[in-house]
Amino acid sequence: MEDRLEPSRSTGRSAPGHALVEGVAVDTRHWIGGRRVASAAGFGDVSPVDEQVIAEVSAGGPAEVDAAVGAARTAFPAWAALPVAERAAVLRRVADGIEARVEDLARVETRDNGSLLRSHRRSVMPRVAANFRFFADFAEKELGHPDLEVRGHRERVTYDPAGVVAVITPWNAPLMLATWRIGPALATGDTVVLKPPEWAPLTASLLADVTDEAGLPPGVLNVVQGTGPGAGAPLAAHPGVDRIAFTGSVPTAGRIAAAAAPNVVPLSFELGGKSPLLVFADADLDLAVDLVVEQFDNAGQVCLAAVRVLVQEDVADELLRRVVERAGRLRQGDPRDPATDVGPLVGRAHFERVSGFVERALRDGARPVLGGGPNRELGGLHFAPTILRDAPPGSEILTEEVFGPVLTVQTFAGEAQAVAMANDTAYGLAATVVTGDRARAERVSGRLRAGTVWVNCFFVRDLAAPFGGSGRSGIGREGGAWSFDFYCDVKNSVFAPAGWTGDDPTTGEAGRHG
Ligand code: NAD
Repeated sequence: MEDRLEPSRSTGRSAPGHALVEGVAVDTRHWIGGRRVASAAGFGDVSPVDEQVIAEVSAGGPAEVDAAVGAARTAFPAWAALPVAERAAVLRRVADGIEARVEDLARVETRDNGSLLRSHRRSVMPRVAANFRFFADFAEKELGHPDLEVRGHRERVTYDPAGVVAVITPWNAPLMLATWRIGPALATGDTVVLKPPEWAPLTASLLADVTDEAGLPPGVLNVVQGTGPGAGAPLAAHPGVDRIAFTGSVPTAGRIAAAAAPNVVPLSFELGGKSPLLVFADADLDLAVDLVVEQFDNAGQVCLAAVRVLVQEDVADELLRRVVERAGRLRQGDPRDPATDVGPLVGRAHFERVSGFVERALRDGARPVLGGGPNRELGGLHFAPTILRDAPPGSEILTEEVFGPVLTVQTFAGEAQAVAMANDTAYGLAATVVTGDRARAERVSGRLRAGTVWVNCFFVRDLAAPFGGSGRSGIGREGGAWSFDFYCDVKNSVFAPAGWTGDDPTTGEAGRHG
């Protein structure tokens, strides 16, 4: 059941609860139990492109959260009882729907959070579709486990869907990060309440449209818009929620864990990072330069970004010279322009936060070898790609997550020091190693504390592989079967060989007491 949006193209204005963004009609109300629901309160969604309000979005609170959790609970038994092949067929139609709307999704996401349109077209939105298609296929093939035989007893391991999953997501890659949780949750038979980020809420609403058109039953996916304290907090505390999948910052994770504690709800947390990029003197320096410059993607607003460059002394000057030359040629500008390499930061508050980090680092004695502040020529929310040297050991810029286009460079003498410096962080999301020596690659990757280690590459991530963070970077792993471990209640049913009146139904063998 859906209210179709009829925006007036002549004026560009649309009815309340609706917005026209980059020519794409977006319903800005919640999606609860297969219906659009408005709230009396709303919030203005500001685009980083020009700092204009592009949509008035419903601001949910405890009542909307309660309705959404109730709808998800109501929808759960029937969705969970469907054969996995039938759920998978719906999810494949969702993937088809996303592929058909890549251009709309890409344009709206770019306008909403300032990330590059060309990246959305080429890789992000296709990945959003893959999040459904992969887990549809994977659930059909892998949502099961061969029986175990233990001392004559047959142990049957089954993956029972857990119930209602709360998915709470950040603004830096909102649709990709939401669907990477929603895909496996729905494939296993769970139902979902999504709370999108208030700084980039719009593509979640388009996802609701796509799932509706694909025939996902009402209540299986619900979207409650709103702020963290307004809508996220009551969702995290709701006793009708069985799992919480959260992606975001460490302080918010702490609040969610505290809110969920009385309900003893399992949590999957994907949090921040301060990942190292180690360049050894034996590395292919061209490759190392590529990998360092890649860290400015999405204006550095990437949880996995390898922002601490650690380089062996012998090659440090040469590496830096080449990195600065190359990064200096990055084009900043409108993220909708295909020629742009680095877009604006997501919003004014975040821009001030990133600026504050860099100002304090400079006061602490760090030296800029590139950038060092806002891009004054472009103005707006454009922050210059920045590389800082000589930050004092232990200083804030080396330890805290900045989440902007800001890299630091430190040097090391040998391998042991490199590993110690890389691990000198409370985070542990990822690490990148650039070396030409295979034995060193094995040794170093084995000693790094990180959920993902990339050797001579970056950002290669298969949906079948485990993903998550160590230390302050998170709790748990998702991807492939690891996702099913989280979204399911894994059950072991033990069948005795004795006690049957006829043949043992689990083996077909004649019953011993029959
Ligand atoms: P955030 O923690 O401020 O917000 C994330 C989400 O939590 C938003 O939807 C917000 O509304 C909600 N929220 C805020 N307060 C809440 C509360 N009390 N209860 C429930 N929900 C609440 O994070 P952000 O600024 O949106 O995102 C940036 C952070 O996300 C960075 O730290 C980044 O590293 C991290 N991140 C991690 C990954 C990963 O996979 N590890 C991926 C992307 C981003």
